[in-house]
Amino acid sequence: MTPFQHDLLEWYRAHRRALPWRAERDPYRILLSEVLLQQTRVGQAVPYYRRFLERFPDLRALAGAQLEEVLHAWQGAGYYARARNLHKLAQAVAAQPRPDLPASYARLRELPGLGPYTAAAVASIAFGEPVAAVDGNVRRVISRLMAWENPTLAQLQARADQLLSAEHPGDWNQAVMELGATVCTPRRPACPACPVARWCQGKGAPECYPAPKARRQKAVTAVAVVLRGARGVLLEPRRGRVLGGLWGVPMAEGEALGPLLERLAADHGTPIAPPEPVGTVRHAFSHRKLEVRVYHSAWEGPGHDPASKPLSQLDRKILRQAQAL
Ligand code: SF4
Repeated sequence: MTPFQHDLLEWYRAHRRALPWRAERDPYRILLSEVLLQQTRVGQAVPYYRRFLERFPDLRALAGAQLEEVLHAWQGAGYYARARNLHKLAQAVAAQPRPDLPASYARLRELPGLGPYTAAAVASIAFGEPVAAVDGNVRRVISRLMAWENPTLAQLQARADQLLSAEHPGDWNQAVMELGATVCTPRRPACPACPVARWCQGKGAPECYPAPKARRQKAVTAVAVVLRGARGVLLEPRRGRVLGGLWGVPMAEGEALGPLLERLAADHGTPIAPPEPVGTVRHAFSHRKLEVRVYHSAWEGPGHDPASKPLSQLDRKILRQAQAL
């Protein structure tokens, strides 16, 4: 073991945050934690992790569930493609003669929806395979260690593979990620407290590595109407890559409410009283920001109980704005 590896592993073992999946060797639980952590902060991921495991304690239980139940358990965690992919993966594994997660990086990569990062994390943490897992935290830490402004993914992966501790690959991968999450943070990294500062070439100006990307997103405007029926509010199945499989309030892009009301009248054939505005809801997805003007009105149809359907965070905000949740 090199002194660099020794110092980082020692630091990790002494300072790692106590998280429910840290004591786990069960590959399914490790997979779930890694999938959750891809787009959810650690503090927020813990309750979802527990709730999901209560409902689906193993891969078999997940494979046997309906997609809608899975999305319901995922509700609030966001990025629902993760839940759909996990469900698909569970079904693919359950259909194999040996219905367990395979114990190697190469075979994990053959499963649907399992990218290089997640496969490497599961292979190293659950099965001790020496493969480097490279996520956003690891990219930042390595860029700073090397003082690289614009490294390619291939360069970062190659360097991560070189640095990896072959003896303790699971702890090693988690140690680099933990360093990125708690010490070598995007803004104001704590270099004086860093266990590997003496090997770091970027510590004089850490925020220059990697070079920040200019990113500005303009908000897209949309309208949504909360229609109150006899037994709840009108909810419709959402379609598309981001929210497909969930349910939501009728909504349309643009500022005009008329075309949405016409579409609803045609689809449901039930009169709608003239809607009134109840405010604006703002929501940021990974790829765009939405600014939704929310209206509400009475409706002669039955409607749904919002608690009975999987809803996105955006729809929950809209329903709260209309005091319907
Ligand atoms: S010394 Fe600073 S920039 Fe370098 S790895 Fe440590 S925290 Fe990051």
